Amino acid sequence: MAWKTLDDMDLAGKRVLVRVDINVPMEDGVVTDTTRIERIADTVYDIQDAGGSVILMAHFGRPKGKVVPEMSLEHIAPTVADVLGLPITWANTDYRDAVKEMEGNEVLLLENLRFNPGEEANDPAFAKRLASLCDIYVHDAFSAAHRAHASTEAISKLRPSCAGRLMAAELSALETALGCPKRPVVALVGGAKVSTKLELLGNLMGKVDYLIIGGGMANTFLAAQGLSVGKSLCEHDLADTARDILAKADAAGCEVILPRDIVVAREFAANAVNENLAPDACPDDAMILDAGPKTVAYIEEVLSKAKTLLWNGPLGAFEIEPFDAATNAAAQIAAKLTKAGKLISVAGGGDTVAALNHAKAADDFTYISTAGGAFLEWMEGKTLPGVAALSN
Ligand code: ADP
Ligand code: MG
Repeated sequence: MAWKTLDDMDLAGKRVLVRVDINVPMEDGVVTDTTRIERIADTVYDIQDAGGSVILMAHFGRPKGKVVPEMSLEHIAPTVADVLGLPITWANTDYRDAVKEMEGNEVLLLENLRFNPGEEANDPAFAKRLASLCDIYVHDAFSAAHRAHASTEAISKLRPSCAGRLMAAELSALETALGCPKRPVVALVGGAKVSTKLELLGNLMGKVDYLIIGGGMANTFLAAQGLSVGKSLCEHDLADTARDILAKADAAGCEVILPRDIVVAREFAANAVNENLAPDACPDDAMILDAGPKTVAYIEEVLSKAKTLLWNGPLGAFEIEPFDAATNAAAQIAAKLTKAGKLISVAGGGDTVAALNHAKAADDFTYISTAGGAFLEWMEGKTLPGVAALSN
């Protein structure tokens, strides 16, 4: 798949409307993490360097089509100005007047898009109003690309469109990992439940050489094979589905790797008394909270043969020690292989990003996607409406 980038556009003297994700965490009126704002900087600077003027548009929170004063982007504007080092003007509803008055390297920030019901409804009239402000539309919010909204989809049909720097980086990382990956490809899928990741497993089976299943999800597969999982998190009603997945993987020549040993405890709590057992030895009153060292050793063997790794979901209840052990170890193995130039590693998912940071492995991964829902839909093989709109 190919998509247009800023380099394909003539930006000189143009008004460029950029959809960004600056949905930053805020406490007591103060932005507590500016990462999302830092990540849009290259796009803003490159447009200005090419002679374009920048108008930013974004959502903030979930106002559901109504004006909610606490969710005004006016509160974020000073932080955006600080982080970018540029003058920012916040435009309430009179977008047009504000655009006319733009000067120098001033950046305009439009009010929270989701104050208007037309945004989430992908309303052509609202998209038309946004399009009237600009000559060129740039999509730089991958995290919002799985939604067809006025600012991500409808507008792209009304103006020449391209991907911003952040979107382009995300798309090429994802393309490298699943579009035309170097083989063997390993997918590590963990986390809580199989039911939330059925489509993901279905799509990956035909595309990867090894599928490592961990976390609470693995319990469902163990139970489906007739093993007792005690009080573990387990979706017993999905036993048929799990067996079906295993059969399909087998037919596709994909090796499925389930825990080869388990770490069990009687309570879901940090430092709970625990033991390392064989997968068929979970006591009736215990729950499986992590994979054990034998599993990690086999994961290391598989990753050492692999060229590409796609990771979503932790291998255990990583939030509580010591049940973070397998996730930490596997993350560090992947980070080390990546650093040595032997592996391309791409990971994403809300808890996955937290787990890889916790393992102090995130910095050495090839790419970590912070776009939770959009990343998962991409891994499921879905066409993201906001990305389709940018394809060449
Ligand atoms: P992501 O957000 O990266 O897609 P998930 O939401 O699917 O990941 O899964 C993360 C959650 O799975 C974590 O909260 C973790 O505690 C939980 N989890 C992993 N393994 C187990 C387990 N064996 N038992 C209970 N919960 C688990
Ligand atoms: Mg999660």
